Amino acid sequence: MRFLVTGGAGYIGSHACLRLLDDGHVVTVVDNLVRGHRGAVDALRAAGGARLAFLEADLADTATLERALRDDRIDTVLHFAGLTNVGESMEQPLEYHRTNCAGGISLLQAMKTTGVRRIIFSSTAATYGEPPQSAMPLTESTPQCPINPYGRSKLQFEEVLRGECAALKESSPLAAIALRYFNVAGADAKERVGEDHRPETHLIPICLQVALGARPHLTIYGNDYETPDGTCVRDYVHVEDLVDAHLAALTALTPAQFRCWNVGIGRGYSVRAVLESCRRVTGHAIPAIDGPRRAGDPAALYADPTAIMRDMHWRAQWTDLDRIVSSAWKWMRAHPRGYA
Ligand code: UDP
Repeated sequence: MRFLVTGGAGYIGSHACLRLLDDGHVVTVVDNLVRGHRGAVDALRAAGGARLAFLEADLADTATLERALRDDRIDTVLHFAGLTNVGESMEQPLEYHRTNCAGGISLLQAMKTTGVRRIIFSSTAATYGEPPQSAMPLTESTPQCPINPYGRSKLQFEEVLRGECAALKESSPLAAIALRYFNVAGADAKERVGEDHRPETHLIPICLQVALGARPHLTIYGNDYETPDGTCVRDYVHVEDLVDAHLAALTALTPAQFRCWNVGIGRGYSVRAVLESCRRVTGHAIPAIDGPRRAGDPAALYADPTAIMRDMHWRAQWTDLDRIVSSAWKWMRAHPRGYA
């Protein structure tokens, strides 16, 4: 098959591209390299050779997207490109809406013009906002009430997709799936690509950077949440399992239907539990200090993955936190400066 992958030079997008290339598909990556890495593109080129094309372009550039979709005879779009930090979104809401919502609309316009009608979109558990503990674990029908611009911008684009799929008088209807990711971690087993955010804001890589000596300590954002140990609880899913979910979703794309699934392992770990796991895996003390809450953080988010298991026969292979952290640690030790 022939794929256009937006954000293919980023963390999750690059892992998806590698798998597609390893499986013999043809991939066009569109990435503006604001958050993505040229080093990731190099790794993809090494894996895919002539089956990889790279376009340095922004989602807002509808004409370039149209050309790529048409000239590369794309069947399916995997839309990973976006801004993904809760804290940053509280400071830069406009940027988040522009990139995550308006950028998606530009892509969808290009798809409409060129007749490409299959899209899988990277959505997020942040679209659920702060559900009450009684709503945990989260199913796809849990009401979506995001509490930060990141979650809102992703939900808005879900709504755009839903509307397009339901469009009346559409001779060639859209098939769209939103996968609502929980917290993604880990890296390619062969360490060809991995997680490298600038700046890094995510819990596991920050703990591991402390273990590497690149940071003095972890700051725990809030110890007074209504959770068992007072720190936030999240569901950590391995990036390879997430890529598997995308491959499974390809077979579930249905014309004129917008469908969505949660992708998580179905179990929550607290910030302290993650820290302890990082200490065990690295053998490093990883000093930590208690800090204030980070704006926009809900107390606990973890998935009920029943629907994706039932509908797509997807099942997380990485369910042990220490194994997930070990995978992230392997990449980080091999690439202490990331792609730099
Ligand atoms: N966190 C923390 N210290 C950090 C980074 C993150 O305590 O330096 C917490 C954060 O408040 C959240 C959890 O770790 O509760 C996971 O945060 P991350 O940024 O990795 O992912 P998010 O849940 O925001 O998508």
